[in-house]
Amino acid sequence: MRKNIVAGNWKMNLDYEQGVSLFSEIVNMVKDEVVGSQEVVVCSPAIHLSSIAKLSSGVNNVHIGAQNIHEAESGAYTGEISASQVKSVGANHVILGHSERRAFFKETDALLAEKVNAALKHQLTPIFCIGETKEERESGRFFDVIKTQLEAGLFHLSATDFERVVLAYEPVWAIGTGLTASPEQAQEVHAFIRKTVAEQYGEAIAEDTSILYGGSCNPSNAQNLFSQKDIDGGLIGGASLKSRDFLDIAKVFNA
Ligand code: PEP
Repeated sequence: MRKNIVAGNWKMNLDYEQGVSLFSEIVNMVKDEVVGSQEVVVCSPAIHLSSIAKLSSGVNNVHIGAQNIHEAESGAYTGEISASQVKSVGANHVILGHSERRAFFKETDALLAEKVNAALKHQLTPIFCIGETKEERESGRFFDVIKTQLEAGLFHLSATDFERVVLAYEPVWAIGTGLTASPEQAQEVHAFIRKTVAEQYGEAIAEDTSILYGGSCNPSNAQNLFSQKDIDGGLIGGASLKSRDFLDIAKVFNA
């Protein structure tokens, strides 16, 4: 069964105390207000993971994740964090392929494929981001771009492994810009992603794949986006830093 997921991406924000305090608020609000079967995931900076894992322990519908891992098992990679280290503090998700990592850290599809393997090996659910730039949308090449990102980053996986991946369509032009894809624009791409997955892994797996939308999602536009047939939740940046906004987005799936 396809899951509805609302995942927050805190990016490089919040000091230790601020992060723990925001996460406590989120956990309490989820306990009081979330009544559906949706999952809430918080992807924090690495400094918070161990503490927030303890706060979410025993809360079934709240999960935590990292925002990146290194592809190697361990070793001389100063400043990096491995999948097994992330897993060891109690996290169970990791964002991979975010456009900021692709752009600022030059992460290629081939590297991301290795990171996906590392995540799955250590029982982390990859939230795998794909999406086109403004220029790629305007030139009409966006379907090709998205197909290539799927093929090169994920389609080496067996069907059993692919089923453990969550996808996030994040048009780069909509991230942190206040520009949101219209529900129709987003649905068009989500349907294309599902069709592309079906061609590779079959209809049943495609139907079960959760595909999140990300890009300036907020409490005012979440309802319209999430009511689209192929949109199964959101990856939320800015609005995940405010507990009230984040919860209001998660609560769209209460209905
Ligand atoms: C993101 O960074 O994944 C994101 C969707 O950011 P924002 O919601 O701020 O556009």
